[in-house]
Amino acid sequence: MYLSMPTIVESGLSSLWRSLRGERCLCFHCGEQMRVKNALSIDVNGTRQPMCCHGCLAIVHTVIRNELLDEYMANKAATSVMVKND
Ligand SMILES: [Zn+2]
Repeated sequence: MYLSMPTIVESGLSSLWRSLRGERCLCFHCGEQMRVKNALSIDVNGTRQPMCCHGCLAIVHTVIRNELLDEYMANKAATSVMVKND
């Protein structure tokens, strides 16, 4: 048995699953997975970013309004390194 097989099969299945269930995206703020058609969005540095709910939208909106985006992004990068598990 190849140790890498389960990983390959699993990722192949999950991408198939995603395509069957409709296109998905991750919330810009909390990383929650959602359907693209259900996502809210906000303009961050000229790029439209998906948001899962009005709570996340309000947080990012507040960050942008208070010009804390650089700090927010730095914090976000640090957090995503910590939670990265693949
Ligand atoms: Zn969210």
